[in-house]
Amino acid sequence: MSNESLANLLKEERRFAPPAALAAEANVTAEAYERAKADRLGFWAEQARRLTWAVEPSETLDWSNPPFAKWFADGKLNVAYNCVDRHVENGLGDRVALHFEGEPGDSRSLTYAELQSEVCRAANALIELGVQTGDRVAIYMPMIPETVIAMLACARLGAPHSVVFGGFSADALATRVKDADARVVITADGGYRRGKPSALKPAVDEALTRPGTENVRSVLVVRRTGQPLEEAGSTWTEGRDVWWHELVDRQSDQHTPEAFDAEHPLFILYTSGTTGKPKGILHTTGGYLTQASYTHHAVFDLKPESDVYWCTADVGWVTGHSYIVYGPLSNGATEVLYEGTPDTPHQGRWWEIVQKYGVTVLYTAPTAIRACMKWGDDIPAKFDLSSLRVLGSVGEPINPEAWVWYREHIGGNTTPVVDTWWQTETGAIMVSPLPGVTETKPGSAQVPLPGIAATVVDDEANEVPNGSGGYLVLTEPWPSMLRTIWGDDQRYLDTYWSRFEGRYFAGDGAKKDEDGDIWLLGRVDDVMLVSGHNISTTEVESALVSHPKVAEAAVVGAADPQTTQAICAFVILRGGAAEDDGLVEELRAHVAKQLGPIAKPKRILPVAELPKTRSGKIMRRLLRDIAENRALGDVTTLTDSSVMDLIQSKLPSAP
Ligand code: ATP
Ligand code: MG
Repeated sequence: MSNESLANLLKEERRFAPPAALAAEANVTAEAYERAKADRLGFWAEQARRLTWAVEPSETLDWSNPPFAKWFADGKLNVAYNCVDRHVENGLGDRVALHFEGEPGDSRSLTYAELQSEVCRAANALIELGVQTGDRVAIYMPMIPETVIAMLACARLGAPHSVVFGGFSADALATRVKDADARVVITADGGYRRGKPSALKPAVDEALTRPGTENVRSVLVVRRTGQPLEEAGSTWTEGRDVWWHELVDRQSDQHTPEAFDAEHPLFILYTSGTTGKPKGILHTTGGYLTQASYTHHAVFDLKPESDVYWCTADVGWVTGHSYIVYGPLSNGATEVLYEGTPDTPHQGRWWEIVQKYGVTVLYTAPTAIRACMKWGDDIPAKFDLSSLRVLGSVGEPINPEAWVWYREHIGGNTTPVVDTWWQTETGAIMVSPLPGVTETKPGSAQVPLPGIAATVVDDEANEVPNGSGGYLVLTEPWPSMLRTIWGDDQRYLDTYWSRFEGRYFAGDGAKKDEDGDIWLLGRVDDVMLVSGHNISTTEVESALVSHPKVAEAAVVGAADPQTTQAICAFVILRGGAAEDDGLVEELRAHVAKQLGPIAKPKRILPVAELPKTRSGKIMRRLLRDIAENRALGDVTTLTDSSVMDLIQSKLPSAP
C-alpha cells in the first residue's frame, strides 16, 4: 500500500441491539472487558483454569524472547482428556457429543462416553503402529466422526497432527506429508461429495510415491463409501496399509492419557493459500486450548446443557480445528457434523439439518450465505429455523447486505450475528461482537475480545484516528498465537513481525469507524490504488452486493495508464436477474451513488462463478492475473480450476 490511508467510503447505519433475554443470561458480560483491561495476563490465567490441568501452571506468559511466546509453560495437560474424558468423569457420558449426518442421509450420534471409547481405541491402534509422542501424523479424511476421533487420538498421544483437506490433490498432500515428515497417514476409502463417492485412497497411494515421503510407515484406512479400491484406482500395499475396522475395533477401550507440557506441539496446519503459497502454522497445547475454549464459550454464548451447535467448516481448515473439534468439545457441547455440500440433494439441505436437530448456534462463511441468497429466500422459508439463537460468520469480510439477509432469513430477524475475525495463525477468534453485549453493525467485526489487543495503524505504525483506515495489527501476544512456521523461524519473523516493530502484522486492511469499531477491508495485497486513493476491494464488493440483482462480487485493481489502477469487477447475478444491456451501467451508477464516483468500476463483467480457495475465499490475485492478461499464479488451493477458463472465455478481448 502507498503512504495514503485507505479511503473510508462505506456508510452503514443499521444497528441491532442484543436480544434482552440473551443478554440477561449471557455467558460473558461487559464486565469481562474491564477485568481483562485491568489485568490482561490475570484474565488469561483465569480462562486457563476453565481447563483441567494435571499440573497447574504458575506462570502465564514468557515473552523474554519475542516473538517466540511461551504460555503457561510450567503447566501440564492432555487435550483429549479435556475434550472427552473429563466430561464423562463429570457424569455427562450420556450427552451426545456428535450428531453425524452423512451426505447420503445416513446418520449416527456418539455420546461423550462412546467418543471416549473410540478415542482410546484409536490411540491404542496408533501405539500399535509405533506412533510415539512427537511423531507427526497426517490426516486426509472426509467429514466423518473418525476424523475427529483421529485428531483426538493424536492429541492424546502428543503426536502432532497435520490435517490436509480431503479435496486436495496428491501433490498438495505429498508436499504437506514431506514438510511435516509424517510417519503415519490416516485416510478413508473416500467420502460422499455431491451425491457420489469421491475416492481419497488413490491420492494417498500417489502421494506416497513422491520423494520425501519415505518415512510414512503405515496408512490407516477408514471404510466409508465401501467402493471397491481397484474400481477407484487404488492398490493395497501389504505391510503398510491397514483397515481402521480391522485394527482399531479390536483395541482396548481403555487408555490412560499422559499429561504434556503446555508448549508441546498440538498440530501443524497450512493456511488457505489465498494470497500465495500456504504456510505451515504450528500451534501448541495449553494456550491454544485455553483460547479456543474460552472464545467458543464467549462468542457463541454456548450453553452445553441445551444448545445444539453446528459449524459448517471443513476440519481441514483452522475453523474446523478450533470450532468443530477443540473449542466445542472442551466445552462439552453437543454438535452437528455434516459430511457433504449444502445443495445435495437439494438447496435446502442445511436448513433441513437445522430443523432435524434443532440447531441453536450456527457458524458459517460469507461465501455460503451469498450462495443461499442467490438460490432464493423461499428455500430457507420452507423449514422451521426457530431454534436458532446465535449466528456466526468467518472467513472473509461479510458484506452488510449478506449479513442482514442472514439475520432476516435464517435468524428470523431476532438472532445476533457475530462476525468473527481471525486467522490460521491466531488459532482462535480475536475480533468479534459478543452476542449478549455488543450492539451489532452489519459488516463489522467491531471489537477485540476481552484479553486481545488489536488496532489499526498507518504506514508509520501510528494508530489511526477514528474514521480512518490502515493495517490491522495485534499489539500484545495472545494464548493461541502461532509459535512459528513449521521448520522456518525466519519466515515467521519476516511474514508477521518485520513490518511493524514489536507488533503482529495480520496482512489485512482495516478501518476504525467514528465509534472506534473495526471494519475489515480485505487483504493488504488486494487494496487498490486509484488516482492516488487507496480503495478497499471489500467496500466496492459490498456496494455491488447491495444492488438487488447482485449475489456476489469480486473486485480487483488492474494496471491502468491513467489512474495507476482501474477497478475491475466480476459479478454473479442473483437467481432470475437478466444480463441485459443496461445492467453494467446500472451497477456502475449504483456503486457511484453508494461510495462516490472515485469507486465506480471501470469494467464490470457478469460471470457464472468466481475463483475460490477450497475454504471458500475469493482468490482475487487470479482475477488480477486475468484482468492484467498474465499467466495465472499458483492455483493448487483453488476449488475448481475450470472456473478460470470460463471467466477467460467471457472476456471480450484481452485488455
Ligand atoms: P494465506 O495466508 O495462505 O493467504 P488465508 O489468509 O486465506 O491464506 P486463513 O488463515 O484461512 O488463510 O484465513 C485468514 C484470513 O481470512 C484473514 O487474514 C482475513 O483476511 C480473512 N478473514 C477471516 N475472517 C474474517 C472476517 N470475519 N472478516 C474479514 N476477513 C476475515
Ligand atoms: Mg493469511
